[in-house]
Amino acid sequence: MPTGLHVDGAWSAATGDRVFAVLDPSTEEVLATVADASPADGLRALAAAHTAQAAWGRTAPRERAEILRRAFEIVLRRTEEFALLITLEMGKPLAESRAEVAYGAEFLRWFSEEAPRISGRFTTAPDGRNRLLVTKRPVGPCLFVTPWNFPLAMATRKIAPAVAAGCTMVLKPAELTPLTALLLAEVFTEAGLPPGVLNVVPTTDPAGLTGPLLADPRLRKLSFTGSTAVGRRLIAGCADQVLRMSMELGGNAPFLVFEDADVAAAVEGALVAKLRNGGEACVAANRFLVHTAVVEEFTSRLVARMREYPVGRGTEAATRIGPLVDEKTRTKVSELVRDAVHKGATAPIGGNAVPGKGFYYEPTVLVDVPADARILAEEVFGPVAPITTFGTEQEAVRLANATEYGLVCFAYTRDLDRGLRLAEDLETGMLGLNTGVVSNPAAPFGGVKQSGLGREGGAEGIEEYLETCYVAVSDP
Ligand code: NAD
Repeated sequence: MPTGLHVDGAWSAATGDRVFAVLDPSTEEVLATVADASPADGLRALAAAHTAQAAWGRTAPRERAEILRRAFEIVLRRTEEFALLITLEMGKPLAESRAEVAYGAEFLRWFSEEAPRISGRFTTAPDGRNRLLVTKRPVGPCLFVTPWNFPLAMATRKIAPAVAAGCTMVLKPAELTPLTALLLAEVFTEAGLPPGVLNVVPTTDPAGLTGPLLADPRLRKLSFTGSTAVGRRLIAGCADQVLRMSMELGGNAPFLVFEDADVAAAVEGALVAKLRNGGEACVAANRFLVHTAVVEEFTSRLVARMREYPVGRGTEAATRIGPLVDEKTRTKVSELVRDAVHKGATAPIGGNAVPGKGFYYEPTVLVDVPADARILAEEVFGPVAPITTFGTEQEAVRLANATEYGLVCFAYTRDLDRGLRLAEDLETGMLGLNTGVVSNPAAPFGGVKQSGLGREGGAEGIEEYLETCYVAVSDP
């Protein structure tokens, strides 16, 4: 298992041999120590990316595609190794880690297929007197900053389109989960990626490492996935160099259940939208808005099904909810639940942290949640489902939109016209219509409002790594 810095195709120690500990959130014990990159190490990684860019940007698209395809196959072949590492450093149950490996690997395959399809156009100007040639070229060296909740998929979602487009990169993974990203670097070496194209530099000083990189004219783009608060700071940091940016930020997803919904199906969708990844997902349903006519049925079914989700170590076969990633995350979940209960909500199931070692929290449903409860406005990032009600479609839309976020909405209804109206009326980048899962490497993932800028995945994903160049051609 690699634990060093990966710079210019080689593994190295950090300046001063500094290291930091990675914990297993299910035991709070040290899992490994990892090299702790200094700002100078970050600049060394950028220098390698910058040096590699010229030759890499000129490689044949087919060559880049084949490297991605090989990386896809290696990741799949090493599924068990990746899944165990994800579970150990992040906490989710092994079955979910395997699902993340499949999902994360799929970005490698999808963008291996996109690389040869990068194209421009040659056309006649409207007045017929000129030709317009439009070409695409790689943006150049990129900085990637990724979160801990999907340590593999959030990395491949950026690396794969960048490799396909011909960009080089420096990846700074989350300090809670650097091991998966380092193993991925090993995979790319085996797949034949040239030195310097992908550099990985974990650090406990993310602001210190990224600041000088954002200020360096050799960097051409930042792609960030994480909280809106940090995203805002990084957007400001991009201003001086007028960097291209992609920002995948926080969410506050509403989950709407209309009076004509298949309630049993809505409950199954709710379980996935809420409990996948223990609720630690930007697309996790954060607010359940249920029509008054079906709220009783929905709540009692949801509570009954949640009893079938045992909490435990991710490595144990029976576990369906692992620990939260750290004490800070658990404290925030506890605070939001306490605030709601203090203001009048009740918890028919759960409502407490699990005592003992490991950052466990019980799957929880909250009912009678008052409008001023913080949990309706803030990302809970835990297995807590607050339920409130609405009476009309208009009211549902108004409540759903009453947030600064706009990443994803979920809606259950049997009325297709309503579904299409919602797709227009909801302020969201993505809508799950009668489904609790939207993520798909072939689809454009991303948000509006303060949930971010740009899209990852789909045909849109590669555009984020391409610059447009227009050549005016005189009449032939
Ligand atoms: P975070 O913002 O605390 O950290 C994300 C990354 O930013 C980490 O790598 C961290 O080291 C780095 N970072 C922290 N402070 C920094 C600074 N001052 N300068 C530069 N880098 C800094 O978020 P998190 O707790 O790791 O992840 C959870 C958040 O990520 C949630 O808000 C979630 O909604 C969001 N998220 C969004 C998406 C999406 O696609 N929209 C996907 C997953 C997670």
